[in-house]
Amino acid sequence: MVRELSDPRKARSVFVETWGCQMNVLDGRRFVGLLGREGIVEARSAEEADVVLLNTCSVRDKAEQKVYDRIGRLAKLKRERPGMVIGVCGCVAQQEAEGLLARLPHVDFVLGTGRIEALPSVLRRVDEEGDRPCETGFDLDEVVYTPGAVAHAVPHRAGITVIEGCNKNCTFCVVPRTRGRERNRRLRDVVDEARSLVEAGVLEVELLGQTVNAFLDPETGEDLADLLRAVGALPGILRLRFVTSHPRNFSDRLIAAMCETPAVVTALHLPVQSGSDAVLKRMKRQYTRAEYLDLVARLRAAIPSLALSTDVIVGFPGETEADFVETLSLFEEVRFAGVFSFTYSPRPQTAALRWEHDVTSPEASARLVRLEALQQGVQRELNRELEGQTLEVLVEGLDRKRRNSSGRTRCGRVVNIAGESELAPGTLVDVRIERGFPNSLLGRRREEEEAEEGISLKGAADAASAARIPLSLDVQNLP
Ligand code: SF4
Repeated sequence: MVRELSDPRKARSVFVETWGCQMNVLDGRRFVGLLGREGIVEARSAEEADVVLLNTCSVRDKAEQKVYDRIGRLAKLKRERPGMVIGVCGCVAQQEAEGLLARLPHVDFVLGTGRIEALPSVLRRVDEEGDRPCETGFDLDEVVYTPGAVAHAVPHRAGITVIEGCNKNCTFCVVPRTRGRERNRRLRDVVDEARSLVEAGVLEVELLGQTVNAFLDPETGEDLADLLRAVGALPGILRLRFVTSHPRNFSDRLIAAMCETPAVVTALHLPVQSGSDAVLKRMKRQYTRAEYLDLVARLRAAIPSLALSTDVIVGFPGETEADFVETLSLFEEVRFAGVFSFTYSPRPQTAALRWEHDVTSPEASARLVRLEALQQGVQRELNRELEGQTLEVLVEGLDRKRRNSSGRTRCGRVVNIAGESELAPGTLVDVRIERGFPNSLLGRRREEEEAEEGISLKGAADAASAARIPLSLDVQNLP
């Protein structure tokens, strides 16, 4: 059966709804870019789109359930507009594959994380053959990637995938199942992509991978340290970041490359997951508490202003109160600038799923509350220490609540810029920090402050001249 398309005079449109990590966000932009090449434009909402893609995350049960809820609501929309196409992509698609088509009759196709480039042909099969395709395999050796077909959401910032998949097999994590084993791109391909982005006006490049610091060029053996130096040397690049690093893969070569590449920002995400050796061992994290702390010390010795953030899981099977206290003490010691903290969520096809889930849900939640209270206090203190400093802020957009422009510092902090609502995303401004809150900073543009100081000084100069009062040197220096 050939599908009846909506009004043929109107350009067909796609809406991508994304859950989850930076890799998923980039994949979402790849979907828009690939379909853009087929003349399909991006819609502002699912309600007005001809094709709706749910770009799913399965790293936690809650995220997965949200996807099923969303599909239920879209089914209602589809009954009103039968020409609409619904595709499920991302990690839930990879994990559930054919099962999704069997369970959800209004889903038209399933596209796994290793088959992104097949999206246009899958959509043609739906349209022209009335097929319900399920594409979920992995190309074993390389990342199939069309750099020119990524519709980056903002003009000044772009992510680039450098490595896909993960070989680590942490016992709580579904990623090796949903993203497959590590596949690396070639360093020169990544550098070429970064160069064309920077030439097109991108100021900030983020290198992405589930274990980005495991990157190894499949032909030359060059690693992330080489890649940082090569991308950081591109003329015009202002900021370079990379995420997510595994502590086990963090070499001194990489620390040296971070120090010696001026574009590399002073923020690093370094998941710890637990502060207890017993729990780290059961998680199969491949490092001890002491090794993690040693790495933090080496990083801070090399880059004293480095702002570290982390991921942590509380209530992992077998985590005792004493284990949890070890986590609290690690947090007190490291003083992270930001944390993504979660209670343990059992995931399909993981080793920990088979273990007794012995930390009750109320106990896990209570531990999370204790950890978050500690962390909020640390963040408030760290952010207050920045009061009075002038920091370089790259504007990202408008803070919806306060209607101020907001952006990020090189150390990854969110800054709301008082009295500024019209700074274009991508503008670089110096901001003097007035207040530090647990999750953000509030400041004022230096330029604006100087202008105000100038006005008040000029006022003083005029008054002094009228009264023939001798002026201080500062006032006499006024133009
Ligand atoms: S390193 Fe561990 S937590 Fe990170 S993606 Fe790989 S298996 Fe998952």
